[in-house]
Amino acid sequence: MGLKSKVVRTRVEVEGVVQGVGFRPFVYRTAKELGLTGFVLNSSRGVEIEVEGAGSAVMGFLENLENSPPPLARITSVKTKEIPTENSRAFIIALSQDTDRKRAHVSPDVAVCRDCLREMRDPADPRFRYPFINCTNCGPRYTIIMDVPYDRPFTTMAVFEMCEVCAGEYHDPLNRRFHAQPVCCPGCGPGVWLANKEGEEIVAKDPVAETIRLLEHGRIVAIKGLGGFHLAVDAGNEDAVLRLRSRKLREEKPLAVMARDIDAAREISEPTEDEAELLLDQRRPIVLVKKRAGSKVSEQVAPNNRYLGVMLPYTPLHHLLMEGAFPALVMTSGNLSEEPIAIDNGEGLKRLGNIADFFLLHDRDIYLRADDSVVMFAGGRERPLRRSRGWAPAPLKLPFPAPPLLAVGAMIKNTVLVARGQDAFLSQHIGDLENIETYHFLVLTVQHPRRIFDVAPEVAVADLHPDYLSTRYAGSLDGVRLIRVAHHHAHAASCMAENGLEGPCLALTLDGMGLGTDGTAWGGELLLAEYATFRRLGHLTNVPLIGGDMAAREPWRMALSWLIHAYGPELPKAEVLKRHREKLPVLLKMVEKGVNTPPTTSLGRLYDGAAAILGIRDAVSFEGQAAMELEMAARGVSEPYPFEVKEEGEMLKADPAGIIRGLSEDVERGRDVSEIAGSFQTSVVEMFSEMTRLAGERTGLSRVALSGGCFQNRFLLENFTHRLKGLGFEVFTHTEVPANDGGLPLGQAAVAAAIIARERKA
Ligand code: ZN
Ligand code: FE
Repeated sequence: MGLKSKVVRTRVEVEGVVQGVGFRPFVYRTAKELGLTGFVLNSSRGVEIEVEGAGSAVMGFLENLENSPPPLARITSVKTKEIPTENSRAFIIALSQDTDRKRAHVSPDVAVCRDCLREMRDPADPRFRYPFINCTNCGPRYTIIMDVPYDRPFTTMAVFEMCEVCAGEYHDPLNRRFHAQPVCCPGCGPGVWLANKEGEEIVAKDPVAETIRLLEHGRIVAIKGLGGFHLAVDAGNEDAVLRLRSRKLREEKPLAVMARDIDAAREISEPTEDEAELLLDQRRPIVLVKKRAGSKVSEQVAPNNRYLGVMLPYTPLHHLLMEGAFPALVMTSGNLSEEPIAIDNGEGLKRLGNIADFFLLHDRDIYLRADDSVVMFAGGRERPLRRSRGWAPAPLKLPFPAPPLLAVGAMIKNTVLVARGQDAFLSQHIGDLENIETYHFLVLTVQHPRRIFDVAPEVAVADLHPDYLSTRYAGSLDGVRLIRVAHHHAHAASCMAENGLEGPCLALTLDGMGLGTDGTAWGGELLLAEYATFRRLGHLTNVPLIGGDMAAREPWRMALSWLIHAYGPELPKAEVLKRHREKLPVLLKMVEKGVNTPPTTSLGRLYDGAAAILGIRDAVSFEGQAAMELEMAARGVSEPYPFEVKEEGEMLKADPAGIIRGLSEDVERGRDVSEIAGSFQTSVVEMFSEMTRLAGERTGLSRVALSGGCFQNRFLLENFTHRLKGLGFEVFTHTEVPANDGGLPLGQAAVAAAIIARERKA
C-alpha cells in the first residue's frame, strides 16, 4: 500500500463566516463524494470537522475546502492536525457544541441566488412568484438577527411557524435549504400588501402588479425592503422625480436607481467590465457608473453629475417589481433628508406619509436597518464610499490585538466599530449625527454587535471634537475608559490598518474638516503617522472660515477668504464678489476684527472657494456638493498653476495663492471652465505631492497612506497615486473601508489599541 492510500484521520478547524451559509451540508456532500467518514459540527469558533479515509481522499477534501467553499463562506483560518483513526463507519452532521457560539461570525445579507430565482419563475413551483423565497446561499441575515446563535428563534422569522414542506427542507442535510433560518413559503411565511398613506390596505388580487401600475403612472411608492424602506418612482418620469425631491427635501443630491438587469443597466449607463462585475456581485452595492448620454433616465436623478448610482435587484420582491415598463426605478432611502432609513410598517407610514402616495408593506420585520452600500471602481480597485448592506458585519482585521473596545466615529457618514482581539466589526452606515433619530440609531447599532459578538467594551474611542453626539455618547458610558483620537490621526491609522502597515509612515489626509490638536479645523494635512502617536509635518495655508459653519454651506464665503489671501486688500474684480456685493463690507469687517472667523486648513474648503470663483456653485444643499461638481466639471490633467511649499521651521506649508490668482485670472479671460477646473485639480495634486516629496527627504520615509473624504474624488485618488509613485513612494489607499469618515472608527480602534499596548509594555 502506498502512503497516499493509507487510512488517516484529520481534525480540521475552520474559522470565519462559516455558520448559516451552507457550510455543513457542503462538508457533508464533499466527504460523502470522497468516501470519507467522520463528522462536522458548528463550534464556538466556527466549524469543526473530523474526516477519516484514504490519505489521498483526505487531501482532496482539504483542497475542496480551500478552493470551492460555499459562495457565502468567508474562511479566515483553517487548522489541520492528524489524529488517531477511530474506524468510524459514516459521515454525520453532529449536534453543535454549544459552549460559546458567540465567537462565530454573522453573515451579511445576501442577494437572492439564481436557484431561488429559477424556482420563483417556475409556475409549477410552490414558491412561484413568492417575494420571500430564499435558501442557505441567499437571503436576509444581519438585518433579521436579534441575537446569537443564528437560529430561527433568534431572528424576526420566529413568529412564522414552518409548514411541513419547509420544515422537511430545513432538516434535510442534502437540501439546499438545510438550516436556512428564513426559509418559508406562501403557505407559512410573510406576505406583501399595498396600503394608502393612511395605512389602509388596498385590496388587490396581485399587490405587486398593482404597485407596478402605480409606478408606471408616476406615483411615489414607499417599498419595504431588506434593510429598510425605499422610496421608488419611475426614473424616466421627470415630474415624478422632481415631486419626490421636493417632498423628501432632497433638492440636488444624486438619487440611486435600480435597473432590471445588467442589460438594462447598460442602456442607462456605461459600466466598464469591472463595474459590471461589481453590479452583479452578491453584495449588490450601488455602483457609480458613467451615465449614458441620451438615456431615458431623467437628468434630475443626478444633476450636474457625469456618474449615476446604479444597482441591480437584490431581493425576490425587487425582481418582481422590475417587470414594470420603466427604464429604471429611483430607489432612494426611505427617509426625510438626513434622518435614518425607516424600517417598521408603522414608523414608515408615519415618517414617509408626506412623501409617498402608496406603501408596499410586508410582515417580515427588519430588526436592524441597513442602507444600500455605495462603491466606485477607481485606480483599478473597488472603493467603498458607503460600507453598509452586504458588507456589514463582515469582519475586518486589525494589525494587532485590541482589548474589547468600541469606536464611535465622528459626525457625518457615521459608523461604529466593536473590536475583540484582531477582529473588528464595522457597523453599517448610520448617517449624519445631526438629529435625535440618528442618535437613537447609533445607540441601537452599538448595542447590537455588543450582543451578537459578545463584546463588553472596556474602552470607548471617540473624536477630539467635544460636541459630536458620538463623543458625548462615548463619554456617557459608565465604567468604560475613554480615549480621544485626533480626526486626521484616525484617518491615517484607518488606511494603515486596512493595509496592514506598521508605522511610521507618511500620511496625506485630505478632507472637509476635523478638529486638530491645536484646536483649529484641519483638513489638508501631511502627517508622520504611527498607531500610538503622530506628528504634523505640513498643512495647507490657514484661511478664515468667514461666519464659521456658514462658510461650509456658502462656498462663496471661501472664495472671498481665498481671494483675500491671494490678493491682499486690493481685491480683484471677480464675478463671485460682484454677485455678493452687498454682503462684502460686513464680511470684510469680520475678517479685519477677527469675529467668527476661525482658521482652517481644509482642502474641501479650498475646493469650495475654487468652485465659487469658477461660478459653479455659491451655496450647497449637501456636504461636499461644490467639490463634487467641480470634479465633475473638470477635464483631466491640465497645466498646473504656480504654488509654493514653504518651510517654516519644522513645518511645511502649502500656499495656493498662485493657484487662486491663476484661476481667477483665467475666469476673467474667459477660459473654458472645464479646463480651469482641470488645471486647479492638477495644481492640488502637484502642490501636495511636492510637500510629500520634501517630507520624504526630511524623514527618509518612503511609504505614504492616502485617506480622508477628498479621496472619494476619483481624479485626486488616481493622480495622487500616480504622481507619488513617480516620486518613488510606495502608496497605500482604501479598498476595504471608506476613505471618508465612514472608515474612521477602524483608525480610532487601531490608535487606541496601540496606546494601550504601549502602556502595558511601559
Ligand atoms: Zn437562494
Ligand atoms: Fe474626515
